Amino acid sequence: MSLNILFAGAPGKFADYGPHLTHALRHAGLDAHVSRDIAPEEVDYMVYEPTGQVSDFTPFTRLRAVLSLWAGVEDIVANTTLTQPLARMADTGLREGMVEWVTAHVLRHHLGIDTHIRGQDGQWRAGVIPPLARHRSVSILGTGALGAACGQALSRLGFDVAGWSRRPKSDLGFASLSGAEGLKKALARAEILVLLLPLTAKTTHLITTETLALMPSGAFVINPGRGPLIDDDALLAALDAGQIAHATLDVFATEPLPPDHPYWAHPRVTVTPHIASATRPDTAAEFVARNIARVEKGLPLLAQVDPAEKY
Ligand code: NDP
Repeated sequence: MSLNILFAGAPGKFADYGPHLTHALRHAGLDAHVSRDIAPEEVDYMVYEPTGQVSDFTPFTRLRAVLSLWAGVEDIVANTTLTQPLARMADTGLREGMVEWVTAHVLRHHLGIDTHIRGQDGQWRAGVIPPLARHRSVSILGTGALGAACGQALSRLGFDVAGWSRRPKSDLGFASLSGAEGLKKALARAEILVLLLPLTAKTTHLITTETLALMPSGAFVINPGRGPLIDDDALLAALDAGQIAHATLDVFATEPLPPDHPYWAHPRVTVTPHIASATRPDTAAEFVARNIARVEKGLPLLAQVDPAEKY
């Protein structure tokens, strides 16, 4: 019998996603029908965004799994009507985009590129030669699908990378730290700190006056994770004091970032509008189809959200 796949993404996205999903499902060997309009009790799988048409999962009585188009699922796990297995988005496009964005911003700060972009004043000054990457310590908080890939790319460039995660890891290809002591070590060595943690009760305001003070003076913070990982007042104070040399921020507690927010005008802050990476229909459709095929074969979902940890 044909599988019924409900597309419950944001309005307007079905035109892009529909053909890619149909193709990817067929390519995965599945007989499936994808639509925005299927009676709830007949839906087998749901491709989901919180900005789509579904807010109550209760009527979806035969739903086998929910496939999120987003990697960050804090809004989805907050929905108490969702009891079915949930998978985050962990497609190759999202990963490649994040690796490119993180690498670019790490290299910007590592090489001091701003000095030359801003210093075109006709004066030839003796330049400061940056250290080689292997003499630059980068710490990545969060070594999941995105943090691990960024750490591996930075390691390939030679950076001295360590990652911090909830559980210790042996297969990252760079140093793995965990626990409260591991966090202290990760911060103490972080000339450049990259935040790629999910937003949970345990990670909210992880970056505070106290944790920023553990970092080397003049360090850089790069946050493509989630805005509330950082206590904004603490970061602004650390920037003003020079403890943090620059913060490159892609995500914010309130998005869009309000026009009067101090981050916009701060000379040591770079704001990017939540564009570090994006889910792309072609690679997302492949990931969704692969995951549905797994469930149909009795295998566990890839990137399954742990309901207890909420990521
Ligand atoms: P994953 O779930 O694959 O990885 C999360 C990582 O964080 C894991 O290493 C996990 O540890 C670690 N972690 C979670 N909780 C804790 C904790 N309490 N203490 C220590 N480590 C913890 O997520 P992704 O890599 O796919 O994505 C990370 C985040 O990036 C997303 O949640 C989202 O917020 C953000 N994002 C931002 C985008 C943008 O454009 N700005 C685009 C896409 C995602 P462990 O490995 O032990 O489980």
